[in-house]
Amino acid sequence: MEKQQEFVLRTLEERDIRFVRLWFTDVLGYLKSVAVAPAELENAFEEGIGFDGSAIEGFARVYEADMLAKPDPSTFQVLPWRAATARMFCDITMPDGSPSYADPRHVLKRALSRAAERGLTFYTHPEVEFFVFKEPPQPGSEPIPVDASGFFDHTAHGVAQDFRRDTITMLEEMSISVEFSHHEVAPGQQEIDLRYADALATSDNLMTFRAVVKEVALSQGMYASFMPKPFTEHAGSGMHTHVSLFEGDRNVFFESGMQYQLSKTAEQFIAGLLRHAPEITAVTNQWVNSYKRLQGGGEAPAYVCWGHNNRSALVRVPMYKPGKGQSVRVEFRSLDSACNPYLAYAMILAAGLRGIEEGYELPPEAEDDVWALTERERRALGIDPLPTSLDEAIRVMEGSELVAETLGEHVFEFFLRNKRQEWNAYRRQVTQYERDIMLPVL
Ligand code: GLU
Ligand code: MG
Ligand code: MG
Repeated sequence: MEKQQEFVLRTLEERDIRFVRLWFTDVLGYLKSVAVAPAELENAFEEGIGFDGSAIEGFARVYEADMLAKPDPSTFQVLPWRAATARMFCDITMPDGSPSYADPRHVLKRALSRAAERGLTFYTHPEVEFFVFKEPPQPGSEPIPVDASGFFDHTAHGVAQDFRRDTITMLEEMSISVEFSHHEVAPGQQEIDLRYADALATSDNLMTFRAVVKEVALSQGMYASFMPKPFTEHAGSGMHTHVSLFEGDRNVFFESGMQYQLSKTAEQFIAGLLRHAPEITAVTNQWVNSYKRLQGGGEAPAYVCWGHNNRSALVRVPMYKPGKGQSVRVEFRSLDSACNPYLAYAMILAAGLRGIEEGYELPPEAEDDVWALTERERRALGIDPLPTSLDEAIRVMEGSELVAETLGEHVFEFFLRNKRQEWNAYRRQVTQYERDIMLPVL
């Protein structure tokens, strides 16, 4: 038995753990959990725990329903909010032991292995925004933010401060390091930034993060949500992610003396992100509601361009701090906090790598506030819009060989089918907005 597996079995005994939750993620990004008794674990490591894949979104067609969840011992953590309980993330396999083509963790691992073939590791640092409300959602009524604070506000006895502090303490108990946290622009809106890690660890951490945030909010009598745009009049919740590629301990995005200290490789990576941005938007912004954020101002990007410190751009190159070549990186700003991180990071990496492989040219940077330009000015500068609705995003994705190849045929087709259904259900809805503006005049 492997060392890590032995460590898990020993810890179960020492810490008197009675339930081990096996976690995995469905194609839409929902966390799934099955609890097993510690006595089952040895077998779970060897053979996996069987479950009915056809009951999980996107996992299997009914005739090939049996699947196995195999815990990854390197992800073992005791849950701080539940007595005598631990968790591990799982890889999903078919009964013959081959990886399940529907498992988002596998999709990301496959994308990472393409980078690894070139000797590269993909690092990610997400800035996660979300709302905290006074109570769980009540159908038909607007949610009430827990506070009326704004960007970076420090409020005596602020409920959000205590909430962030407890959340971060719990994350750190689970070995998830937090770099920054603060109140965001909108009332009740928070931001917590995770320390950079390789994209697989970041994705596992994000799944844990969402669970922790929801647990802490409920334990304090509040409700947290990662919905991209809960309010018409306030900014939405993005999950800007800073990315870089390393060869061993060398940051290949850094080259001293170049513009913004960016290497040719970094420029090609950015060019890949820009060229493929419209195709991957259905994955980075997967809900009908995601497009209300992208079109709704509040510092969310709506146009495909890059800039140095330009917050209206889709890709931003943060300011270089002298002597900090290792931290040269690129910020991708479209993704929202409700994406499936495994799939979204697989697509971002694949788009950037394609830029490197094909030697794409980086277009000129956007120096202006692209939101303030007219449509015609943007067109003259060659700046295209991101898809403006889920419908448009799906249509662009449908024709994308890059997305089909990266997600694999099964996830690609399931995703398109599921998102088409979501769009069709939404577009039939008659909204209060339409009644309010039409009934008085028509
Ligand atoms: N909330 C903004 C968004 O939706 C981001 C604000 C910021 O720059 O942190 O992308
Ligand atoms: Mg922010
Ligand atoms: Mg940012």
